[in-house]
Amino acid sequence: MFASTMQDVELGVLHLLQHGRSIHADSSIITWDGNGPRQATFADVADNADRLAAALTDLGVQPGDRVGTFCWNNQSHLEAYLAVPCMGAVLHTLNIRLFPDQLTYIINHAEDKVLIVDASLAPLLAEIRSQLTTVQHVVVVDGGTEADIGPKANSQTAKETVKEANSAIEGLGPTLDYAQLVAGQSPGFAYPQVPERSAAALCYTSGTTGNPKGVAYSHRSIFIHSLGVTGAQSMAFTQDDRLLLIVPMFHAMAWGMPYAGWMVGSDLVMPGPNLQAAPLAEMIEKMRPTYSGAVPTVLNDLLHNRPDADLSSLREVICGGSAVPASLMQAYDDTFGVTVTQAWGMTETSPLAAIARPPKGTSPEDEMQWRCKTGRTLPGVEIRICDDAGQVLPNDGVSQGEIEIRGPWVTGSYLHDSAEEKFRDGWLRTGDVGTLTADGFIQISDRAKDVIKSGGEWISSVDLENLLMSHPDVLEAAVIGVPDERWDERPLACVVPAPGKSPEPAELRRHLEGQVAKWWLPDQFALVKEVPKTSVGKFDKKLLRSSHAKGDLAVVQL
Ligand code: ADP
Repeated sequence: MFASTMQDVELGVLHLLQHGRSIHADSSIITWDGNGPRQATFADVADNADRLAAALTDLGVQPGDRVGTFCWNNQSHLEAYLAVPCMGAVLHTLNIRLFPDQLTYIINHAEDKVLIVDASLAPLLAEIRSQLTTVQHVVVVDGGTEADIGPKANSQTAKETVKEANSAIEGLGPTLDYAQLVAGQSPGFAYPQVPERSAAALCYTSGTTGNPKGVAYSHRSIFIHSLGVTGAQSMAFTQDDRLLLIVPMFHAMAWGMPYAGWMVGSDLVMPGPNLQAAPLAEMIEKMRPTYSGAVPTVLNDLLHNRPDADLSSLREVICGGSAVPASLMQAYDDTFGVTVTQAWGMTETSPLAAIARPPKGTSPEDEMQWRCKTGRTLPGVEIRICDDAGQVLPNDGVSQGEIEIRGPWVTGSYLHDSAEEKFRDGWLRTGDVGTLTADGFIQISDRAKDVIKSGGEWISSVDLENLLMSHPDVLEAAVIGVPDERWDERPLACVVPAPGKSPEPAELRRHLEGQVAKWWLPDQFALVKEVPKTSVGKFDKKLLRSSHAKGDLAVVQL
């Protein structure tokens, strides 16, 4: 080896913190609470991060200790994102939508020492407080004030929520007030030099099968991922952008947008709990964000409930977490003039791994065909497709198998959980099934556990769902495999009608004809009120399959 002459500087969140504080001191963090926007500069937030680091140190938080957050997207959550890793501790973002048992498991498994919780979420935490074995301090944000409690801060409901939160704060045992803690300290914390390969943040997968699994991001991986997120063919937002952070900071690090946005000095609009169509539409009209990221369910909700909204400030919305139907992207083009761009990733991959940007020279009329792909591999990650026996398949866009991935921001193991079956020769097995082209386009047909195997061949539930959702009378569609004597499994389409519509199964089947192979066509349909969702807003097919097994679905056989 011929040695380089480069300096060997450790990468880390501290570099991000200090860069944002000095280079982008005037950029803004805007938290949308019930009363409208509340604004602070990056310089203010960085100072508060220093104060928080000092306060946590006083509480006995040492390097390596885990500090959990149980918070919406808001300013104090960002302060914790910055302070906790920089002081050498580990930020553990807790998904507020998990079942109490799973939350208890995660907090105890991670051995969280301190929890920072939004007052409005205190009741959820109070339910499990007595079972938390390692938590020494609970810090409540905006406890006892009417601000930040929800969409209707001035209304009777909000006052009641405050009362409920206060009593729940009592239910939490002794708590500390975030604002008081921070106010009692001064900026200028002496941050330690943290080794770049040590953990900075911790996030658990939502555990649709078995217990949730912990993924610990390193300082190095967060730094490099932030560069990956802002890359020119990636999300590519800059100091001239204003990001609306719809994706929650409690799941998969809000797709890396808080750190990346802070790094490049984009203004960050934090919606708090106001994630319904009406407040989102109002927020976009008033705050004029240029960029956002959201899962398909949220975009669908906005489209159906506020088609009149003015979203024209948005130049792009990144969408992922589950397959993004072409019909949704087209509807955003047509209704709002907003480009929705599909991306793919997972908690284990920090999460951004691929983004569906059309290749060089694509004509405008051909763009949709590329935007419908799951994504195109980002520089920094490698992707391959393997069959059941672990044989690597050709990148020919046809050979179908499990997607495997490796790279500097991809996890190489799970926290205190060997889970050997999830890794192969240093690659992470994603559990997603699909194809890959030589020029890096991934197309996911299913999650391995949702694959429908009919007569020995795979049927893509994702393809069927996307096509069904392109029918004007369909709001949502989830397709599951149900047992069949002859074919092993056949697809059952569970369809949520669009408001005021009642699509005929035969008509839906006709709609699919000619678009998929004949043997893919579902012969069973069930009209349902809603598709059950997981804690992160994905179709919960496990629940649908068990409803079907119990005979709870009214199935129409064609
Ligand atoms: P969890 O695994 O806990 O549900 P993640 O957010 O980590 O939560 O989920 C990652 C999974 O989401 C991926 O493995 C994939 O199945 C799915 N996913 C993400 N983006 C897309 C996409 N654009 N198209 C299809 N599936 C997607």
